[in-house]
Amino acid sequence: MRVTVIGAGVAGLTCALELAERGASVEVIDRGDRLGGDCCSWYAGGMLAPWCERESAEPLVTSLGQEALHYWAAHMPGVTQRGSLVVAQARDGPDLARFARRTERFAWVDGEQIAELEPDLAGRFGRALFFSEEAHLDPRATLKAMADKLAERGVAIRLGTDVSAHPPSGDRILDCRGLAARDQLTDLRGVKGEMLLIRTREVALSRPVRMLHPRIPLYIVPRGDGLFMVGATMIESDERRRITARSMLELLGAAYALHPAFGEAEIVEIGCDARPAFPDNLPRIRRRGRTVYVNGLFRHGFLLAPALARMAADTVLVDAYHPEVMDEDHAQRRNA
Ligand SMILES: Cc1cc2nc3c(=O)[nH]c(=O)nc-3n(C[C@H](O)[C@H](O)[C@H](O)COP(=O)(O)OP(=O)(O)OC[C@H]3O[C@@H](n4cnc5c(N)ncnc54)[C@H](O)[C@@H]3O)c2cc1C
Repeated sequence: MRVTVIGAGVAGLTCALELAERGASVEVIDRGDRLGGDCCSWYAGGMLAPWCERESAEPLVTSLGQEALHYWAAHMPGVTQRGSLVVAQARDGPDLARFARRTERFAWVDGEQIAELEPDLAGRFGRALFFSEEAHLDPRATLKAMADKLAERGVAIRLGTDVSAHPPSGDRILDCRGLAARDQLTDLRGVKGEMLLIRTREVALSRPVRMLHPRIPLYIVPRGDGLFMVGATMIESDERRRITARSMLELLGAAYALHPAFGEAEIVEIGCDARPAFPDNLPRIRRRGRTVYVNGLFRHGFLLAPALARMAADTVLVDAYHPEVMDEDHAQRRNA
């Protein structure tokens, strides 16, 4: 079977690899002029945190997300499995207790244990939650590694190719256009996320640290070589490019509250994109004729892509039905 995958974000690339590994003849097209050039996946933190995410997400995200831990470790170099740490200022202790009530698979750690896990946080926090089974990766390096794996299997990625000008030729189409698929999936919306990349040699962290706050919970993900991703805001907006002064203040404030040495860090990049999300923030696979849509990965792109790719490939290749992610397409019914 010849399958054309539209979109070379994390959804498209994992689907393409899954299909190629199962023997399909695959091509990927993307309108960006370079890999990651026009995609939300480029700005992700890369946290693989199925249990932490349960604080605000449905159980489905945790159950599907656990597949990601094995998938990325088996498929890609550079996955770091050192867990996640969740901290809060003493005055925000109730937020930490609330986070604990809503999640599982963590241990409470005290100041001494925090110092063992992250020596540079010694003396800064009295209590934290440690999710030892979670992991993180560098999304940009991962997208490139995915493209290399696809190339090894003979799968070409045609960049600079907008599907509206180049109708796909495959027997089946896998539409992974993220928010741009709103022209067909009309219940899709954007949730703006702003992030920073900062660099300092004054602080070292070996795992993502989430900093709870009643209004602005944020996180810092180490990328190695003194680089840190600080993210991410959550704003109901389709706006993809501008970051506001207020968001910048909040992101830097969180980094500074975690460790004052971040105040001296160099700002390397200011980034922003809109996460594709359905009204319930859960992902969907939808079939319409010869096209299968994979979308709505919201704030869980790298976490959910492996499970969705497996199910999407089932749908494309053997017409399988996965009720946990395949709903009745209300928009299509309305149009019919
Ligand atoms: C600041 C921030 C932090 C995040 N942190 C995390 C995190 O820590 N962990 C996590 O799992 N997720 C995280 N996410 C969420 C994650 O980034 C998204 O869920 C994910 O990127 C969605 O992937 P996608 O492949 O569906 O869409 P995209 O990555 O947007 O890919 C869609 C692709 O389709 C292409 N395309 C669009 N229209 C066309 C067309 N007409 N023709 C051809 N190609 C087209 C685009 O060029 C693009 O490359 C974060 C997101 C943001 C913004």
